[in-house]
Amino acid sequence: MTSLFDLTGKVALITGGNGGIGLGMAKGLAAAGAAVAIAARDAKKSAAALEELKAAGGEAYFVELDVRKQASCRAAIEAAVARFGRLDILVNNSGTTVRKQPQDISADDWHLVLETNLTGALYCCQAAYPHFVKNGGGKIVNIGSMMSVFGAAYAAPYAASKGGIVQLTKSLAIAWAKNNIQVNAILPGWIDTDLTRSARRQVEGLNEKVLARTPAGRWGNPSDFAGLAVFLAGSGSSFVTGATIAIDGGYSAVA
Ligand code: NDP
Repeated sequence: MTSLFDLTGKVALITGGNGGIGLGMAKGLAAAGAAVAIAARDAKKSAAALEELKAAGGEAYFVELDVRKQASCRAAIEAAVARFGRLDILVNNSGTTVRKQPQDISADDWHLVLETNLTGALYCCQAAYPHFVKNGGGKIVNIGSMMSVFGAAYAAPYAASKGGIVQLTKSLAIAWAKNNIQVNAILPGWIDTDLTRSARRQVEGLNEKVLARTPAGRWGNPSDFAGLAVFLAGSGSSFVTGATIAIDGGYSAVA
């Protein structure tokens, strides 16, 4: 029997896969046999990520991408298909935030966060769709947040974008089930990455609050995302679609 977790011959594109959670998932997919396209803006950071993936024996490739631009999303998907001949898995992981009280958020702040975290995911899904249809199926993994469920005074645009990604996930799952495309969302808890290192500096007492509220008693690591990424990208999840699954050390289970 073929392993439910074997991705040999599959091609994945991971937006923002050059660091943090994205790189954690890229390493998982590569270890399971997939060829991985890392799609992001920072070429230098991406080159270092490619080195790590290749050193672990994976096949990896950098594709330039600014998810805020629809043409860039289309070009990145086409570049990955040109390089590897097909596309089977899309992980929408690029993300950013602006930490301000709602009354201080500018129109530019709002658009930056919504376009990066939500609109860009739609653009990439639209660009991937015809390739998935051609292959007879595909896998989309969208990255939400605990703020898909909860709010925070300093994170209105971020929470709005991450709530939106869950509803986008469900709608695409419904629309594209007939094409054998499964669309699911992962909701990370508090994970130690560049994004949250800046949060620890900007939000007083955050480290202590996270440790106190997380039953596992620690911050998550990017490597905690490899297993679920492989499951959601592989044949083992063929009847799992429109789902949101937390990787949070129990954070969202606490009343
Ligand atoms: P990082 O800052 O390490 O990763 C974010 C990635 O997004 C970067 O690799 C960056 O690459 C990419 N990115 C940002 N803007 C763009 C853009 N315009 N176009 C293309 N890529 C872009 O943070 P994390 O690993 O923590 O975040 C990954 C995802 O997980 C995000 O969606 C985040 O919201 C989510 N998340 C993280 C949590 C955490 O605790 N860390 C908790 C909940 C959710 P580059 O700059 O090279 O373009």
